[in-house]
Amino acid sequence: MARFATGVIALTVGGDHLHGMTANAFSSVSLEPPQVLCCVAHSAVMHKAISAERRFAVSIMGADQEHLARHFADKSRPLGASQFESVDWRPGPRTGAPLLSGALAWLECELADFYDSGDHSIFIGSVLDSRRGPGRQGLLFFDGRFHAGVTTTR
Ligand SMILES: Cc1cc2nc3c(=O)[nH]c(=O)nc-3n(C[C@H](O)[C@H](O)[C@H](O)COP(=O)(O)OP(=O)(O)OC[C@H]3O[C@@H](n4cnc5c(N)ncnc54)[C@H](O)[C@@H]3O)c2cc1C
Repeated sequence: MARFATGVIALTVGGDHLHGMTANAFSSVSLEPPQVLCCVAHSAVMHKAISAERRFAVSIMGADQEHLARHFADKSRPLGASQFESVDWRPGPRTGAPLLSGALAWLECELADFYDSGDHSIFIGSVLDSRRGPGRQGLLFFDGRFHAGVTTTR
């Protein structure tokens, strides 16, 4: 799978389970209704957070957000609100989940379904709201490393 280039997202949950996690096992699922999925390890704190809050947000990371992708994948980061202390974010109006400033786009989702498979769960979210940011260069993950994607003119 390291040979499969992906984008990178911050998956976040608000409310009593404020938490963030870097992920790349993320995909669109359906256009009508709009749905996305993300695969989360059973062992991750995020697994409990999504299962409990049943709402989450996705911040699609730009090329200049590698430090945030590393931060939210770092197992030594603090838990709860303190993991967001050095991060610029605002609560999503539909979910309360953190939307990271400077991201390329944001989605707010309600948990529609989930499936356990192996050591991960596939969480499917119905998209409640989505917005684009002004950034034009995506953060990519390929061959175990972060890369800056091509710059779009749109
Ligand atoms: C490019 C990239 C893509 C990735 N894609 C995915 C993906 O699609 N899906 C996926 O599942 N993972 C993915 N990961 C891995 C994931 O980002 C990390 O494993 C991340 O640390 C998991 O976050 P977590 O907070 O949910 O769990 P953890 O890292 O296990 O926990 C986070 C924090 O909570 C603390 N903690 C844990 N348990 C307790 C406890 N009981 N009490 C107190 N503190 C505790 C930990 O010490 C740590 O501070 C990806 C990583 C990278 C770099």
